[in-house]
Amino acid sequence: MYDLTSPQTIRDLMSRYRLFFKKGFGQNFLIDSQVPDEITRLSGIDGTFGVLEIGPGIGTLTRALAKKAKKVVAVEIDQSLKEILSETIGDLSNVTVIFDDILKQDIPKLIDKEFPGMPVACVANLPYYITTSIVTKLLEARARFQSLTFMVQEEVAKRFCATPGERDCGAITLFIHYYAQPEVVLKVPKDSFLPAPKVDSAVIHLTLRSHPPVSPRDEAMFFRLIRASFNQRRKTFVNGAANSDLIPAGKEQLASILEELGIDPNIRGEKLTLEQFSDISDRL
Ligand code: SAM
Repeated sequence: MYDLTSPQTIRDLMSRYRLFFKKGFGQNFLIDSQVPDEITRLSGIDGTFGVLEIGPGIGTLTRALAKKAKKVVAVEIDQSLKEILSETIGDLSNVTVIFDDILKQDIPKLIDKEFPGMPVACVANLPYYITTSIVTKLLEARARFQSLTFMVQEEVAKRFCATPGERDCGAITLFIHYYAQPEVVLKVPKDSFLPAPKVDSAVIHLTLRSHPPVSPRDEAMFFRLIRASFNQRRKTFVNGAANSDLIPAGKEQLASILEELGIDPNIRGEKLTLEQFSDISDRL
């Protein structure tokens, strides 16, 4: 088998099949020969695992995953990669490719169908234009993933893995910490991809929690409160949340809830912890 991380091989394949890199699908293919094996190792999978891969591209990471996993199911939106993939990974008996938009897949159903009785992980070099939608969808699905291991833009990795209450934190940080324990596990420079994106990347590993660290009585209210606080992050929590259509409470009510909970009434939303958001949402 030829080296799928060689830029010349990729260019030859693409020209033989009359294809070009589709920017709109976030097609930046890996050209560092170490990285696919390294991502596979960092994902923690072994020969018992079923692995869902998002966006196999020309199959570079897919081959590395298939060497280690029991079974790999790869979901690829770009139908025009069908022929290339049958050439590059057609010899692998433990790989299935589904041509569809991952955002349209019923994830728990796919897992039950494809990976019965297996521990399951999701591993991908994500298309950057929909990173947040994919991560949100996979976590909200509450599917039985043990972990998610994703290549994302470095700035996004920092935001996803920041500690709640600290700099770099956003609403998505708290959302992720609610479902998983995130960690940045590898930095990958931009020249590891063809074509090279504008910014460096990083691999993050999210270990799914069996139970969230807090138990708000109304999860929807809890997440609305978080979104409302970060939508207006320059304001105090009380002013930001009171101004938001997402929250059915005025300044006075919010201020008195903070007082009851012993929280500084001038605190900014970005400084609040998951526990504090949960307590406030319960009082609302
Ligand atoms: N895995 C390959 C690699 O590492 O070289 C390719 C990664 S490339 C960054 C992202 C891949 O995701 C592309 O193959 C792209 O066509 C695919 N993709 C983009 N949007 C998608 C979607 N909504 N559902 C499934 N695949 C998608």
